[in-house]
Amino acid sequence: MINEQLLNPQSIVVIGGSNDIHKPGGKVLYNLLKSNFKGQIHVVNPKEEKVAGIAAHQDVKDLPNVDLAVLAIPAKFCPETVEILTQNKNTRAFIVLSAGFSETSQEGAELEKRMVEAVNKVSGALIGPNGIGMLTPNYAAVFTSPVPELSSGGIDFISGSGATAVFILELGIPNGLRFANLYSVGNSAQIGVEEVLKHMDETFDAEKSPKVKLLYLEKIDKPEMFLKHASSLIRKGCRIAAVKSGSSSAGSRAASSHTGALAGSDVAVDALFRKSGVVRCYGRQELITMASVFMQPELKGKNIGVITHAGGPAVMLTDALEKGGLSVPKIQNKYSDALLAKLYAGSSVANPIDFLATGTAAHLEEIIDYCDTKFDEIDAMVIIFGTPGLSEVFDAYEVIDRKMKSCHKPIYPVLPSLNEAKREVAEFLSKGRVNFPEEVLLGNALAKIFYTPKPVSENIDLAKIDENAVRQVIDSSSNGYLSPISVQKLLDAAGISRAKEFVVDTPDSAKISAKEIGYPLVMKVVGPVHKSDVGGVVLNVKDETQMLLEFERMMKIKDTTSILLQAFLKGFEIFVGATREEKFGHVILCGLGGIYIEVFKDTASALCPVGKDEALAMIKSLKSYKLFEGTRGQEGTNIDHFAEIITRLSALLKAAPEIAEMDINPLLGTKEKLTAVDARIRIEK
Ligand code: ADP
Ligand code: MG
Repeated sequence: MINEQLLNPQSIVVIGGSNDIHKPGGKVLYNLLKSNFKGQIHVVNPKEEKVAGIAAHQDVKDLPNVDLAVLAIPAKFCPETVEILTQNKNTRAFIVLSAGFSETSQEGAELEKRMVEAVNKVSGALIGPNGIGMLTPNYAAVFTSPVPELSSGGIDFISGSGATAVFILELGIPNGLRFANLYSVGNSAQIGVEEVLKHMDETFDAEKSPKVKLLYLEKIDKPEMFLKHASSLIRKGCRIAAVKSGSSSAGSRAASSHTGALAGSDVAVDALFRKSGVVRCYGRQELITMASVFMQPELKGKNIGVITHAGGPAVMLTDALEKGGLSVPKIQNKYSDALLAKLYAGSSVANPIDFLATGTAAHLEEIIDYCDTKFDEIDAMVIIFGTPGLSEVFDAYEVIDRKMKSCHKPIYPVLPSLNEAKREVAEFLSKGRVNFPEEVLLGNALAKIFYTPKPVSENIDLAKIDENAVRQVIDSSSNGYLSPISVQKLLDAAGISRAKEFVVDTPDSAKISAKEIGYPLVMKVVGPVHKSDVGGVVLNVKDETQMLLEFERMMKIKDTTSILLQAFLKGFEIFVGATREEKFGHVILCGLGGIYIEVFKDTASALCPVGKDEALAMIKSLKSYKLFEGTRGQEGTNIDHFAEIITRLSALLKAAPEIAEMDINPLLGTKEKLTAVDARIRIEK
């Protein structure tokens, strides 16, 4: 596991270090020599006397004790090398660049296992194999370029893909992003993204630790660990953005319930990120933009002042901000005219604040001061300032840098003239600043960050339910869909209200139960999974004659074993359901029910356990939320009761982890309450 030898080694050996910088062993040594590393560097290369000016050791056995080993040799030689180093050279940290392990073959997997065992035996750290290596403020051990500027004030970046990490650096560096640590975890043989987060959380130092973390993930093996440490880091003041690629789930196609078809593992990832407070991104550019926003002071309100000398980008940015739910409010107060008088005729200070192509650095300074201290309408500024090539803009960028230091409100600089104002932008970045070259990307990122919820509280209160009754039903059931009677028992044990109903299989028993319910009533076949599709649901059955006719017809429907008689209820159709995702546990979904769920796919999801607050947030995040509240004379539903049902469902799933998939569709919602009229529960022990 991550240790001092990995993060701050006193000596490093490159096994397979080479004079050829086009080989990993050559390039990693080159980068290491160029980096901040102050300790002893050794090289093992049986074919060379000297490598990069360093006397090479012919054999690992000839080495003195060494803290960290970087391996750039064929996979088949790695386990033995690791064994010698751990046992004889006191080496406690390893970065294995080599490929050809578990990612390629069973044999490779065996080699990987041997390495991990050797490292674990001495409680050492192993990064990789099959990654590009590691960067820390203390040393650079990657075999790729570019190598960013490394400082503890930079970004922590953990990547499950080496090549992708390189391309992300490639995008971020020109914008001025600086990095603290890069962990390219490769096959995550011993240390994966989750372990790195855990380490960062457990060793977090509010003064010294980097606060911005970027993740690129192709798998999440330990969602619980991820949740625990990502959310803890965010609670401590960190900000995390992540790409999780591979979002299509073939498995979901096979699922039989609505919930199953909608969910799939990507919904689980979404739910995990939301619960953790992690901002989800879908590409490199977006990830880099998020990181750049995170490097600025936090946006505390949603009102943005847009300052520019070029109309078009300001309008595009304004569109993006407004579309994302932020606001570019009109600025008109007692100071407006005074500011306007200081600018060239034709300028506008109403927001966007446009001080024309001829506007000067002095104008810009005035505008920023007004925005910071006199325009209470706004919480932050975006300054779009480039050049059409007629004059230099050093003075304007100097103003922006200076104001970013002194202003109370965050300032986001958009410096678009990457070519014409190359030198000016470079000077601006050299002061430790970050540039946002494209305003719409910035606008989208600001909105997304603003609306990403805070991590959910660690203490989640679930509703109290009758767990014994739940266990009785589950323990006495076999795999597959539960019978209506078992479903009834589970809903009752969980305290989820349901319609009055009886299962009958003879006309005589049907007559008795129907009287008990009262007409009009609803009849449904028991047996077929999708009842409406087979003509197995009849609503508004008015009297006994109709009921008996339907009974006779419905009993003949394929797979039908009996008939469910149910009270005919009013209300609008709501859906809640859950699926169990491998490793993630249960994900709850909710939304508009009935046929709407398939048409609009307007659902919200949350990873279990789901407490009342999170349930309310789920409901409020629905596009159709207004319908739930009631709109334009349409009666809504009892949102509090809806949230309570979600937490009761969460409690049920906790008591019955064997539930693989379930949905209640619909619940019929009135102003008073929600009542389940159809539920399917599938057990898989
Ligand atoms: P399935 O989903 O198997 O087709 P449901 O039991 O959900 O069968 O019934 C289909 C539709 O019939 C529901 O979406 C709802 O619109 C309506 N419905 C079902 N039960 C009732 C009831 N008790 N009262 C009013 N409408 C109902
Ligand atoms: Mg249904």
